Amino acid sequence: MRHPTTAFEIAWDLGFDLAGVAPLAPPARASEFQAWLDAGRHGSMDYLERQRERIVSPAAVLPGARSLLVVGLGHSRPAIELEGGARVARYAAGRDYHNYIGKRLRKLGKRLAAEGYGSPQRGIVDAGPLLERSHAAEAGIGAESKAGNLLAPVLGPWFFLGELLIGEELEPGPAEQLSLPNCGTCTACIEVCPTQAIVAPGEIDARRCISYLTIENRGAIPLEFREGLGPWVFGCDLCSEVCPWGSKAPDHSERFGTHEVLEADGQGGPLVRWLAEGEAFSQTFNGSPLQRPKREGLARNAAIVLGNLPSEMGRDSLLRALQFDPSPIVRGSSAWSLSHAHRQDAGVRDALESALGRESDSAAALELRQALDKD
Ligand code: SF4
Ligand code: SF4
Repeated sequence: MRHPTTAFEIAWDLGFDLAGVAPLAPPARASEFQAWLDAGRHGSMDYLERQRERIVSPAAVLPGARSLLVVGLGHSRPAIELEGGARVARYAAGRDYHNYIGKRLRKLGKRLAAEGYGSPQRGIVDAGPLLERSHAAEAGIGAESKAGNLLAPVLGPWFFLGELLIGEELEPGPAEQLSLPNCGTCTACIEVCPTQAIVAPGEIDARRCISYLTIENRGAIPLEFREGLGPWVFGCDLCSEVCPWGSKAPDHSERFGTHEVLEADGQGGPLVRWLAEGEAFSQTFNGSPLQRPKREGLARNAAIVLGNLPSEMGRDSLLRALQFDPSPIVRGSSAWSLSHAHRQDAGVRDALESALGRESDSAAALELRQALDKD
């Protein structure tokens, strides 16, 4: 068994902030993960159900792999508030981290191969078949928290994980013996969550979590959570923002930059633009994590947040979406926001009635009827 000193040195050299080696064995949290899936708390993330067996059998992910090298990269930055008051999760403000970390994992792999570390290799960032937080905790680079994330010294919850499966047996353990944070008696994240998504310490019901609802969920956002979204148009940082362990994390804005789609324009800001976005969506959002929910999902989120943060320009853009948006989900969400925030405004009731008259989609028609019944 080889000591991973060289691997850690290369990881530092490539800019990673944390590194450790986890045993290539079923993750410690395997049974909790299975119970979470059985309870349906993954919502519509069916890929987790499909990959259930692989996720708890890391050795089967890459035949010949003998170790799991886990790295962490800080992404802390000041809070992002868009023109009009909307918010996006800080990690999503700049360029997509999957590419950023994926590239560095490939370089790490190449340099390890040059040092004689065995093949094969496979880098994984976020979407791979691994219970990465559980492995990272076993590698000693962070401690599992009540908010369901990992806490590292200095960075708190503000870091990404990446993994490299390698064909060399390495001694498990962290690059540095860290004194890890712990939640103790704190419950700030549980209390701050506006949709009560932290259903038990360390357990998130994704179906209630704003991050899932605004990013992974492909349908309409359930009525009971729309007000709870508040200003969050993509993701949510509330449980991380209240965490005392992250309050001294350094500013890493320069790592990912800020994408131009977040820019103010004095015309109602990004939400008005995103709601009106059409075929150019992929081009406009090229390189941004905000692409993940696709045009329909991001326009849906923008429509709802414009209802939670009412403005005249927002109302006008909702009226346009109600009439012209090709997606029934976006038309329905616009109807909800118009009735939620603007039902007393001149012309809004008439617009909702006309929209109902021409609506051919049954779910959007139901939203319109509910919007009209609110009066
Ligand atoms: S991300 Fe937001 S909605 Fe999800 S658990 Fe944390 S505070 Fe709750
Ligand atoms: S806010 Fe408190 S309870 Fe939640 S993760 Fe941070 S330390 Fe733990």
